[in-house]
Amino acid sequence: MIEQVSAQIDRFSGLYFQWLNFPSPLEARFETDTSARRSTRLAFEGIFALILFDLSLAADHLVSPVAFHRALIIRLGLITPVGILVNLRMWRNPGAFFREASLCALTIVAGLTHLFLEHGQTAVNSAYAQVGLLATLVFANTLVRMRFVYALVTSATLLAGDLVFLRFDTLLLPQQKIVGFTLALITTAVTLIANYGFNREERLNYLIGLRGELMVKDLHHSNERLADVAERDSLTGLANRAGFEVRFLQAWQEALQHRTLFSVIMVDVDRFKKTNDNYGHLYGDKVLKRIANLVLEALRKEGDHAARFGGEEFVILLPNTDEPAAMLVAERLRRLVEVAGFPPIETSRLGVDSIVATVSCGVATTVPRTIGERHQLINAADKALYEAKAAGRNRVCCALYNPAPLRPRVTPPAETTAEIR
Ligand code: GH3
Ligand code: MG
Ligand code: MG
Repeated sequence: MIEQVSAQIDRFSGLYFQWLNFPSPLEARFETDTSARRSTRLAFEGIFALILFDLSLAADHLVSPVAFHRALIIRLGLITPVGILVNLRMWRNPGAFFREASLCALTIVAGLTHLFLEHGQTAVNSAYAQVGLLATLVFANTLVRMRFVYALVTSATLLAGDLVFLRFDTLLLPQQKIVGFTLALITTAVTLIANYGFNREERLNYLIGLRGELMVKDLHHSNERLADVAERDSLTGLANRAGFEVRFLQAWQEALQHRTLFSVIMVDVDRFKKTNDNYGHLYGDKVLKRIANLVLEALRKEGDHAARFGGEEFVILLPNTDEPAAMLVAERLRRLVEVAGFPPIETSRLGVDSIVATVSCGVATTVPRTIGERHQLINAADKALYEAKAAGRNRVCCALYNPAPLRPRVTPPAETTAEIR
């Protein structure tokens, strides 16, 4: 879209004549974005035009009291009610065609009516008809700023009407007719040029505004994508350390505000160095990816969050979760990894050691009391993890974090941990 808008800006900024329309999707957007404002403006100007149109009854009366009656009926009895009906519709933002075509039709009818009413009376009436026609052209092309094509149609029709009027007029001298028509021609040309300029300027301003809007949106989108890339671990697809810090602070603040329980699980892949040494780093990467998926699978609640803490370590945030529930999540993960933590491997590489992938987990729970306390909770979970490693790996340990002091408590062997608790 932005390319299309830029191309149109180039087109509308050029020196030469351009038809004032956009390619269809852009034209539709222009119409949607500008129609309500335009309709309201036209409705206001319509009231002004109707008042002027009816005020000219005073001039009608002054110039030709004989024909005043006829003017009264046509102006007040015919054109004004139609004008009011169109005006009422205009306030309700009608479709583009009705809006522009009704404006064009009413202007033509008003202009031709004026010529008709002043026709065949006195030379003053005929001169007044010419002046009235000029006023109509100025009004339609420059004040109302009809769309250019409609302005062209209106101007051409009024000029044709003036030609017919002058052809059958018997009161003006030929020179006066030539002067009258020349003036009408000049006024038409000048006001049409102005009309084209207004319309072109309006579209160009719209395009520049739209391009700015689209660029801001684009930038916003790029920033979001960049932030996402910066906070995501490319190997596992989980949040990286930076993403974790942001999420941890947010979740912690919420728990602090609502004084709710908060649990974390630190996860470390057991003897991962050996996996790398035996099967290569690429296979090690596959194991990490698989364990990351299993970490996600182990999560159940909406606000739970997992991240790669670094190397072969993961961290799980469990807001609003008590210690037994956090232990269950950790145990679920431990079992998942035990069963499915190692991706298939080429049989030729088998035999160095039996392939197993297991994780050890440290769990810590608290009700946050201060912002800074969150680091202590991580430390406590880390200590519990260390205890799990020391106790033989492939198990879940829980930190005795609340109440202080921070003393990690080793749980029974992993297989039975969650059930016992
Ligand atoms: P422990 O059970 O005590 O945790 O033993 P360990 O071997 O898992 O721990 P250690 O800290 O000795 O080794 C961690 C290994 O993890 C070493 C490092 O090469 C490997 N590692 C860290 N990040 C990556 C990674 O992105 N890809 C691969 N393939 N290996 C990684
Ligand atoms: Mg480690
Ligand atoms: Mg390890």
